[in-house]
Amino acid sequence: MKKPIPPEMLTTEVLMEPPFDQLEMPGISDLTTGAGSGAGSGTETRLLARGEWSAACEFHPLNPLEVLNQVRSRVVLAGKPVVLLDLDSTLYQVEPRSHQILKEWLDSTVSQRFVEERERLSHLDESHVGYSVRDTWISLGLDPTVGSGAQALDSVKKFWSDRFFRNEWLRWDRPYLGAAEYVRGLHQDGAQIVYLTGRDEDGMRLGTEANLVRDGFPSGHSSIRLWMKPSKNVSDLVFKKTAAERLRRLGVLVASFENEPHNLAGLQALYPEAMHVFMDTLCSDRPTSVCRGLYRIRSFEPVLQKTRKL
Ligand SMILES: [Mg+2]
Repeated sequence: MKKPIPPEMLTTEVLMEPPFDQLEMPGISDLTTGAGSGAGSGTETRLLARGEWSAACEFHPLNPLEVLNQVRSRVVLAGKPVVLLDLDSTLYQVEPRSHQILKEWLDSTVSQRFVEERERLSHLDESHVGYSVRDTWISLGLDPTVGSGAQALDSVKKFWSDRFFRNEWLRWDRPYLGAAEYVRGLHQDGAQIVYLTGRDEDGMRLGTEANLVRDGFPSGHSSIRLWMKPSKNVSDLVFKKTAAERLRRLGVLVASFENEPHNLAGLQALYPEAMHVFMDTLCSDRPTSVCRGLYRIRSFEPVLQKTRKL
């Protein structure tokens, strides 16, 4: 049964808009390859991942502060401006959530038989935590492919996935410096804010809304929406494409902020006229079309530095 949502957390749009599970979900292939995106999509069919992808992309040469300022300038000039913001690894650092779960695995009975892995994991620092548990394993010097290293990894992955996508562990997330200040500025400039996340409604809405309030992000207004997956079983990519189509009803998409290359490539294909900003933090190793014309930032901190100088 669906958990009740506290009234103060709701925006009217949450109640008025149909749930995403009533909408038709498009195919994934249209997004991963950029196929069918038409001229000017800014993508090509070469598929690369992570560092190779970002090295091959031709980003706009603007520095991060210029990128952030240009988005705000376009918000001011546009009619019914909309800015789309991903949460995990875009507005929020999620390594602390994973770190906490890994420490809990270490304290659990299921980890007791993995002596060497427990010893390595006892030295785990937040800086070791990668995009996936497997990435973290490799950063610790553990073998993810054979022997007890592989068995322990299977155990950790199950332990992690049973917790990572649940409200109870979201409190460990930490907003990137300057992110809340920047999103507040966008909203004050007149942007409709859409938080678009692959987190699912039933497992993660309450914790997500609580964190947005806790961390000072705009919330609780009809021009602010939190769009979440109707179910964990829907792919993030398919959900985000469906949601992006819905954006057309709200107004003009001025910019999107995302850490996942394949989501960005899909959004750029749908909205070639908008600014699409790659948040260069952590991302999956999923191969993605090489893009042209994306913007890139690594943090929102330039917003704070600018404020201090004034
Ligand atoms: Mg993300």
